[in-house]
Amino acid sequence: MRNLVEEIKKLKEEKKAVILAHSYQNIEVDRVADFVGDSLYLSRRAKDTDAEIIVFAGVYFMAQTAKIISPEKKVLLPNLNAGCLMADMINHEQMVKFKSQYPGIPVVCYINSTAEVKAECDICCTSSNALEIVKSLNTNRVLFVPDANLGKWVESKLSGVEVITYDGNCPVHNNITISDVKEARNKYPDAKILIHPECKPEVSMLGDYTGSTSGIFDYVKKHKDKKYVIVTEKGVVERLRRDYPDREFILIKNDMLCESMKLTTLEEIKYSLEHEINEITLDEEVRLKSASCIERMLKVSE
Ligand code: SF4
Repeated sequence: MRNLVEEIKKLKEEKKAVILAHSYQNIEVDRVADFVGDSLYLSRRAKDTDAEIIVFAGVYFMAQTAKIISPEKKVLLPNLNAGCLMADMINHEQMVKFKSQYPGIPVVCYINSTAEVKAECDICCTSSNALEIVKSLNTNRVLFVPDANLGKWVESKLSGVEVITYDGNCPVHNNITISDVKEARNKYPDAKILIHPECKPEVSMLGDYTGSTSGIFDYVKKHKDKKYVIVTEKGVVERLRRDYPDREFILIKNDMLCESMKLTTLEEIKYSLEHEINEITLDEEVRLKSASCIERMLKVSE
């Protein structure tokens, strides 16, 4: 693996490339990544970088987002089969139909959506800034796509705002139940429970902390507790164990992993960069419309 890592690093230099990796990726990808984090963090890095090529170790909508905000750069997705089950729950036609049922109500889309869906929305959000984005609209009703769980969690945190949600979810997080959390609480009474708001709102309510992937990392950084139950994708637990070897991190359920996120390998990263293949392209009209939805979010959430 050492040779492969060195070869990728050399290619990055030769081609003025940068590798962005999501925290749910196979952990060995971090050895070649310039930046590792969640969607909001990686969107900002995609916007700021002066690299000529962005290799996105993540899923399709993330690479699309990088291309939307950095159209002059070549964006590569090493494995084109890396999709997102949640983003695939709503296509352009379904989006238009949903919106037409609620004329005049602003539409917020979670970043986990395709460019075609974003192009139909007013503003984008991530799990790090969803509350702030909905608040910024200064309205008492918003439409929220595609994640019903995140939308309803936002509603529970804001008084006087009705969040009308599309019926989408992330199956990895949606599978967690109230009894799973209660069981963990009984089994590990001295542990803090940290939950991602893509879980059902009644589950999210049970956390000592509920927030985005970067919020979970920040929580651990700022606290001294020795034991944590983590209620999000396995990659987060692997990185926490690596970064804090003197603490204990328990994944709430062993099958809490996103198969799409695990598709990307170091070999594929090298191959796609070497041959500059699997490039993300977008229709320019869709790109421009989806860019204003993302730019608006980045302005609110600076
Ligand atoms: S964890 Fe869920 S929301 Fe995230 S990429 Fe996988 S399927 Fe999509």
